[in-house]
Amino acid sequence: MNIYNTLTRKIEEFIPIEEGKVKMYTCGPTVYNYAHIGNLRTYIHEDILQKTLEYLGYDVKRVMNITDVGHLESDADEGEDKMLKGAIRENKTVWEVAQYYTDAFFEDCKKLNIKRPDIVAKATDYIDDYIEFIKGLEEKGFTYFENGNVYFDISKREDYTKLSGMNLDDLQVALRDDVTEDVHKRNPQDFVLWFTKSKFENQAMKWDSPWGVGYPGWHIECSVISLKNLGNQMDIHCGGVDHIPVHHTNEIAQTESYTGEKWVKYWWHSEFLIEPDGGKMSKSKGEFLTVNLLEKNGFDSLVYRYYVLNSHYRKQLAFSFDSLRQAESAYNKLKNRVKAIKASDDSLTENVDKYKNAFASCIADDLNTANAITVLYDVLKADELNNTEKLYLIENFENVLSLGLLTADETLSHSEEEINFIEEMIQKRTEAKKNKDFKLADEIRDELLKQGIQIKDTREGVVWSKL
Ligand code: AMP
Ligand code: ZN
Repeated sequence: MNIYNTLTRKIEEFIPIEEGKVKMYTCGPTVYNYAHIGNLRTYIHEDILQKTLEYLGYDVKRVMNITDVGHLESDADEGEDKMLKGAIRENKTVWEVAQYYTDAFFEDCKKLNIKRPDIVAKATDYIDDYIEFIKGLEEKGFTYFENGNVYFDISKREDYTKLSGMNLDDLQVALRDDVTEDVHKRNPQDFVLWFTKSKFENQAMKWDSPWGVGYPGWHIECSVISLKNLGNQMDIHCGGVDHIPVHHTNEIAQTESYTGEKWVKYWWHSEFLIEPDGGKMSKSKGEFLTVNLLEKNGFDSLVYRYYVLNSHYRKQLAFSFDSLRQAESAYNKLKNRVKAIKASDDSLTENVDKYKNAFASCIADDLNTANAITVLYDVLKADELNNTEKLYLIENFENVLSLGLLTADETLSHSEEEINFIEEMIQKRTEAKKNKDFKLADEIRDELLKQGIQIKDTREGVVWSKL
């Protein structure tokens, strides 16, 4: 298998530390709100990574953390406390907020056929281990204590920026929105390992420590949870590209300082889902797109998975309802074609090997899921394959793709004629609006309403849903 390694900035052959086994760590969600579909794009691709490794015969042990404590708004340990913000917004305790959104996250994962990692670790379950870890860093001289907080001193690491490949000045420029003046820091990129003093007097999650009552910084949880569950070395650490310059950079600095060894062999990063105008999809922008919202708009969640798998994980994907609608139409057709294959008494022949090999080489080529889906279409139209073989291959590919192609069919959300009709009406309305014929535009909207279809203009395009 070949895979892109952010650390070396090239595609490399994947060779695990221990033959046949893969240790994999994923940065989990911050549970102060629902995951947006951008976050879930990253989790879908990570799921594909795990399932690809398993398909290729590796025994994968995967760990994910749940950030249920602190996590200040910016990656640089500054800004507002996200958990506290969620609690105030919803009039709940921070613990209730964390539990609610953790459950909601796994509910979304289930809908998207994302497999639950073998170990899911809550950040708040490892407080004693963070304290031990910080004590270890302190003994080795990597920390300093200022104004009530323990900081990591990045000047102690010559290789601090090795993951991003940036120099410190560039890094500071790149992060200028994040890095506010903290007069207590010796270097702008230093980060807090343990807070006893922050702007948040009413921080509810607090623990005793050798430095006073307080709470851990954000980056520390991933280092400690992975060391505890996977040991001092691991094969693959994954997350979204936003984590490269700060979160993962800081994880490496503190972990390798603590163990004195190289930590992660392959750093894997998924690119962003963006808005049609190129903006970042983000939870802080107010209304954001969730799986629930897609469902409310009549989409089967697996349509979103299909949509995501048609793009490569290292390319940005600009989301729009138009493109999702196209994916829906293709997905429904695909599902209908699979449904139309009747089980037969034929037996398997070596014909299947060619397709299995083609599929494996696509996913083993830095996870080329779009090409893998093309192989699936090749299977559907192949005259040389009998129905038993076709169904066998679809089931085989589904171990990785997980598109729900063989699961009993709940009614497909919309018929093709219905979609075509609505899309045509929306198109006509858009044209009417362009021509400033607002009367016609309103008539079209009312006509759709009469037929039980509501339309709404959003930043991502016109969406419609059944009333
Ligand atoms: P968070 O809950 O904010 O810690 O993010 C969870 C995961 O989603 C992380 O791996 C982020 O890197 C990733 N992520 C955040 N925003 C996006 C986005 N717009 N598109 C894809 N992945 C994202
Ligand atoms: Zn992390």
